[in-house]
Amino acid sequence: MGRKFFVGGNWKCNGTTEEVKKIVSTLNAAELPSEDVVEVVVSPPFVFLPLVKSSLRADFHVAAQNCWVKKGGAYTGEVSAEMLVNLDIPWVILGHSERRALLGESNEFVGDKVAYALGQGLKVIACIGETLEQREAGSTVDVVAAQTKAIAERISDWTNVVLAYEPVWAIGTGKVATPAQAQEVHFELRKWLQTNVNPQVAASTRIIYGGSVNGGNCKELAAQPDVDGFLVGGASLKPEFIDIIKSAE
Ligand code: PGA
Repeated sequence: MGRKFFVGGNWKCNGTTEEVKKIVSTLNAAELPSEDVVEVVVSPPFVFLPLVKSSLRADFHVAAQNCWVKKGGAYTGEVSAEMLVNLDIPWVILGHSERRALLGESNEFVGDKVAYALGQGLKVIACIGETLEQREAGSTVDVVAAQTKAIAERISDWTNVVLAYEPVWAIGTGKVATPAQAQEVHFELRKWLQTNVNPQVAASTRIIYGGSVNGGNCKELAAQPDVDGFLVGGASLKPEFIDIIKSAE
């Protein structure tokens, strides 16, 4: 079963209106592989979503970086899944390690968010990954399995889920996982899905890698059999994001 290559650009909490316009015009001018080969999604901060949505070419899609765990209401400062749907934003990133670490989002809370967002019709980039301490203790697979399990227990349809494996020690550090390290965890995750969800979900769910991906290391990572694309942070703000998209070919 073919898994279409997926490249997400996570802009995090960066950008001014002028900078966003500049990134959009660089992306709009790029010559890229066709939509049959690669799915590209960029994720600006909430406040820039309408601007990006209205100015970015149609073969790129847009994601929010988070949404609230349930229906909107008296939750000051939150943005609901319904609002994203209302704005015609198709994707949302959930469970990013920065939110898990800095805002205390637990596996269960992330699982609840994924289930709610899917239920509202959003597509979800669900992030998982171990810390350096956990890797050094040999618990990488247990950690990512527990994070995946909290999602799997709450959803039944994986069609609109992309799983992003992002080792925390590789995010924003310039210390990318080796292709072998990434492949090993992606393989284990696919095996986990096969055993604990079902073989069809294991075969069809995209598992993308994130953490210090750049124009120089993307090709070798993309060549790994279980690496189905990338979630890119820092490099997604730069023209080299286009080189990363081209690693789909
Ligand atoms: P990075 O971030 O590419 O800057 O390491 C990746 C991410 O956090 O999604």
